[in-house]
Amino acid sequence: MAQRTRMLADITWPEVREAIDRGAGVFLPVGSTEQHGYHLPLATDVILPTELALAVADELDFLVAPPVAYGYRSRPLSGGGQGFVGTTSLQARTLMSLVEDVLGELIRQGFERIAVVNWHFENQNFVYEAAYLAIERHRDTPARILVAEHPFAELSEETMEALFPEGFPGWDYEHASIMETSLMLHLRPELVLFDRAVDDASKRHPWYDVVPAPEDFVPASGTLWKATQASAEKGEITWREIVGQFREAVLAEFARSGVASERGARPS
Ligand code: MN
Repeated sequence: MAQRTRMLADITWPEVREAIDRGAGVFLPVGSTEQHGYHLPLATDVILPTELALAVADELDFLVAPPVAYGYRSRPLSGGGQGFVGTTSLQARTLMSLVEDVLGELIRQGFERIAVVNWHFENQNFVYEAAYLAIERHRDTPARILVAEHPFAELSEETMEALFPEGFPGWDYEHASIMETSLMLHLRPELVLFDRAVDDASKRHPWYDVVPAPEDFVPASGTLWKATQASAEKGEITWREIVGQFREAVLAEFARSGVASERGARPS
């Protein structure tokens, strides 16, 4: 049966029952509430993984659980740090407990194909640990959890060139910068104040970190690199590749006859 919507919390419990009974999977997007410069919303890290999950949910028959809207502490060299209003973060143990509990609930209900889709850089190992603990607690179920700590792997040379014609600084700089701004311009342009976007950088960006954060690790705007070079077109090219990679990853781990034959029956 066609789903009215893929958002798990927007449907009724009998519809969830039906989805579980036919073997539907479930995505758990994990993000943050974090400053993203003068021009992007605080929810950027929540919006992008949720859009990614929704982009493949129909085809792969997944529901999308309510996203985790808070993440681990923003770090100065990858997210601008905790010094901006709006940035509202969790301690690592709170995030791990939250994600572990939600995953445990999804397993208890009978979901067997589960994928965590994380966008916020700082959450990486913590969502893995949460998945590990949830499975450890439910050894008696056949559930498996795909943990996408990064929303994508390497992008093609073609996409990298389109995104970063002046050179690629490294993914840790990619916060409220070219890629995230381009993706938001493509997916949710109504939320982007593009005329306020700036190119910025911290005075220092060493390979190590320091606690408490030195002031010169933090750019004034909260944008860590060049946001003005973003465009909706770059966003579209990049998004197509990210969705393709994610789709392949989920298919590779959770291929099942139903999905495969449905896809085979459909002209592509
Ligand atoms: Mn982030």
